Amino acid sequence: MLIFNKITELEGFLEGLKSKGQSIGFVPTMGALHKGHISLIEASKATCDVTVCSVFVNPTQFNDTADLAHYPRMPEADTLLLEQANCDALFLPTVSEIYPTREKQIFDFGELDKILEGKYRPGHFNGVAQVVKRFFEIVQPNRAFFGSKDFQQVKIVEALAKQMKSGAEIVSCAILREPDGLAMSSRNALLSSNERVLASLIPRLLTKAKELALSSGLLAAKEYLSKEVAKQPLMKLDYFEFCNPTNLTTITQLQPNEKVVALLAIFVGKIRLIDNIILN
Ligand code: AMP
Repeated sequence: MLIFNKITELEGFLEGLKSKGQSIGFVPTMGALHKGHISLIEASKATCDVTVCSVFVNPTQFNDTADLAHYPRMPEADTLLLEQANCDALFLPTVSEIYPTREKQIFDFGELDKILEGKYRPGHFNGVAQVVKRFFEIVQPNRAFFGSKDFQQVKIVEALAKQMKSGAEIVSCAILREPDGLAMSSRNALLSSNERVLASLIPRLLTKAKELALSSGLLAAKEYLSKEVAKQPLMKLDYFEFCNPTNLTTITQLQPNEKVVALLAIFVGKIRLIDNIILN
């Protein structure tokens, strides 16, 4: 696997491949890689000639400086995992390489970046858009792979790709879960052993809420989940919402043939986790 720290070197490598007609698959990450990330590498390798993975903890998408400071960083372990996955190239830039100036670009996503995660993490998606735009300009991928664990992020990236006429196909990949159902996340490593046990409640509550939503309605499901969370002193719910999976508008009542996704954000101790489940 080739490792690039500099934009110009990565661009030089990619230009050579593109001139030979090779397709580029791109997997942007913030590192502390796990099997969920590797599943994106595999998805890229399955459909693209060359796979580029970036590992970059993007400061502009953190609305909480303590969260940024504590975010796990393990570039050596990441490199090994990517090598084992036969990733072709790793882009590991510094913050000043990506942001040579402090200039902040403002994006307009209408309501999409103001609801759900956007409501609780103001500015988060603007930062995501800023870094994804930068990476798309550098890599100019044919396809870019994102996990549907970050469901709203996929919508934002789709909107961004359209706005910047990037031409990259945005591929949304399934959520990889631990054996107990917890969605894999770099943040899981920050949970204490007690918190980790408690976190396994999240997928169970989501599954039960889905069943209840389909049998007794969305309100019953919402009440059930918030009551169960309230019983846990170490847990705090930011939101649990039923939404249209295309535009993320809130759904209050199930309609025949209407697709619905249930999304939540929840604190386990000080660690904030997100997850979602498709209803139908
Ligand atoms: P992150 O490093 O958390 O920014 O994630 C990088 C990419 O990996 C994003 O597109 C995430 O949605 C995706 N990802 C994170 N966790 C999972 C998972 N459990 N299953 C599939 N994709 C994931």
